[in-house]
Formats: sequence, C-alpha cells, structure tokens
Amino acid sequence: MKKESQLIHAGRHPERQFGAVNPPVYHASTILHASVAAMESSGKNPFEGVRYGRFGTPTTFAFEEAMAAVEGGLRSVATSSGLAAITGALLAYLKAGDHLLMVDTAYFPTRKFCDQVLAGLGIETTYYDPLAGAGIAELIRPQTRVVFTESPGSLTFEVQDLPAIAAAAHAAGAVVLMDNTWGVLTFQPFAHGVDVSIQACTKYVVGHADAMLGAITLADEANWLRVKSSVAAFGHSPGADELFLGLRGLRTLSTRLARQAETALSLCRWLETRPEVERVLYPALPSDPGHALWKRDFTGACGLFGVILKPAAKAAVDAMLDGYRHFGLGFSWGGFESLVIPTGGHSIIRTATRWAPAGPSLRYHAGLEDAADLQADLEEGFARLARPA
Ligand SMILES: *Cc1c(COP(=O)(O)O)cnc(C)c1O
Repeated sequence: MKKESQLIHAGRHPERQFGAVNPPVYHASTILHASVAAMESSGKNPFEGVRYGRFGTPTTFAFEEAMAAVEGGLRSVATSSGLAAITGALLAYLKAGDHLLMVDTAYFPTRKFCDQVLAGLGIETTYYDPLAGAGIAELIRPQTRVVFTESPGSLTFEVQDLPAIAAAAHAAGAVVLMDNTWGVLTFQPFAHGVDVSIQACTKYVVGHADAMLGAITLADEANWLRVKSSVAAFGHSPGADELFLGLRGLRTLSTRLARQAETALSLCRWLETRPEVERVLYPALPSDPGHALWKRDFTGACGLFGVILKPAAKAAVDAMLDGYRHFGLGFSWGGFESLVIPTGGHSIIRTATRWAPAGPSLRYHAGLEDAADLQADLEEGFARLARPA
C-alpha cells in the first residue's frame, strides 16, 4: 500500500467504536480495574493494555500505531513534544561513561541537552561533520553507544549519508538515532539503517501550529520496550487532545506536504535567480550540494529551506522581514502558514565544522498560501531590503 493510502487507514478501527470513523478521545488518568486480581495482573505487563493514563490510552495507541506505519517501523512511543522524544530516546541508550557522536548540525535544543544535561550525567558528546559519511568510523570509540543523525541538518540543510554512517556505527556495535522531522513522510529511516527514528510531530504531523507532540519509532519489540520504559520513567506522556490533533493531521499530511514542497521548490528556483541572494539551501534544488544524496534516499521534500543573502545591513534585513504580509516571524514550522526567522550570528553554533557565511542567513517555511502570492511577498521584501524606510 502506498503511503498516501496508509495514512488514511493507520490507527483507525471503526468496528471497535460503533462505526465512528475516528478513534474516540479518551481523557483519562485513573483506569478502574474490575478486581484486585485484574489490577495485579495488569502490573505484570505494564506497557500493554490500558492501566494508567501516563502509560497510554486507546487514543495514544491509535496515534502510535499510525506513526509506526508512517515511519515503516514496528511500534512507536508518543511523547509530549519533539524534544521529549529526542531526550527520552537518548537516555534510553546512554548511561554514565558512554560516548555519544552527535551531528554538528543538530537542532539547537538537542545540542543544549547534550552540553547541559548529558555532560552532567557523565556522558561525553563529540560533535561530527554532517558530511562525514563512512569516515565517521574514525571517531567511534569503544565507549560509543549512540550515533545521532539529523538530515537535512537544522538551519543549514546538509544531507547525511545515512546508510554509510549506519554501516560504520553498526560495525562498532553502536545504535543509530535519527531526528527525521524534515523527512517526515519522504525518508524511510529503517530502510536506510536507522535503528531509532524520532519525529517532532508538532511540525507537519499536527500541521496546524496548535499542539506539541513527538514520536519515537522502533523496528523491533526489544528496542520498543527499552524506549517505552525510558519515556515512561521520565513521564513524557502527551495529552489526549494533542494526540487527537496528531491523528487528525496525519489524514491530510501527504496532500499538505506535497503542496508545500512544490511551493518551496518554485520559490527556491526563483530565489536562486535574484541578485540579492548568495545561496539557497534546499536539497530538492538541483544546484544544492546535497541533491544527489537527497535524490538517492528521499522520495520528496517539505516546505522548509534556507537562504543566504549577499552582505546587507541588519536594519535593511529587519525592514524586509518586518514588512512581510504572508511570512510570519515565528519559530517552529510544518503548519499551514508561511514563516521566516533570521538564523545568522549566534543562532547557528558549530564546533566540528565551520559555518560563517558573509551575508545574513534566513530560514523560510512555505505554507499553503498561493505560491504567486508568496513570491510577490518576497519580491516586495527585496524592495524594502534595497530601500529600508
Ligand atoms: C521543532 C523541532 C524539534 C523539537 O520539537 P518540539 O515539539 O518543538 O519539542 C526537534 N527537531 C527538529 C528538527 C525540530 O525542527
């Protein structure tokens, strides 16, 4: 079955709920047990069945079943945010004395967690070049337990050679974790050597900028149990309404994603021709250095891309951004609306590689607005860049 069709069916069981198309939303903390014996037996297998709200309700299980299908895995663990999925997964595999290889282009809060929390727990992090490929083998130590990947890289969009990295990691007995938020539906992690796939469902899965949600997907029962125990130990459980919004978002995900990727590509092609633009960072663009790898491993793209401008005064760039009618100034992405953020200066931290463009750098998200309207908005912005008020 194609992904588009899978998304319609995944996690839905109308026969269990009076024929209602969508699973009911269970708002539950306490679950009543019929007897002491039933209560005791539910404790033997704490993560199966409905036992206590934090461990999951039928709404949680419906969402997890759907996410496992989206990712091509066996089972998923839903979390209260994308970052909770990242931290819950990392701590399922790492303990004091272990070594972590973290991609230098990781989402900034992931880096902060390594430096602030993991370091304090006696877990050492080494940042590596996203373009390391098979060369990552040189950085693997006997204590290396996890190789964490994110492709394309946050803010700078480098595409990683996942099969090569995974082969090196597996040869050394390390597990490969991936933040697959950008590749939401277009990168099949388990077919490319990933062991643990993480998504910030807050982005395209929810898709409407109105809920925080995450998911960790595993390809086998043993890894699922390991991650589920870690997430449960931290109490990272999502709320019922957030799960419902995640399930709702999944049904239209492929349509939104295809349209937003198409708009992004048309904007990127146009931006490349503009004299104000130094470089466009979008792997689906044939001129992008990551294009060949992206074409080999991904089946599509999304609406998120980067732009580096030719050197310009901050006041002029601020005037360009402040005046947009469609591109709102806001963090996050994956919703129906177009967004932009400045990403230059101190907001991009690299320690294993160098990132120092001469001009300002920006991150754009193409929403579901008309592509020509968005292009006009960008064009008017360039006029403000040339002649700030
Ligand atoms: C937003 C984001 C996250 C974190 O998701 P939250 O739900 O905001 O915690 C993780 N990884 C990437 C790549 C993201 O863009």
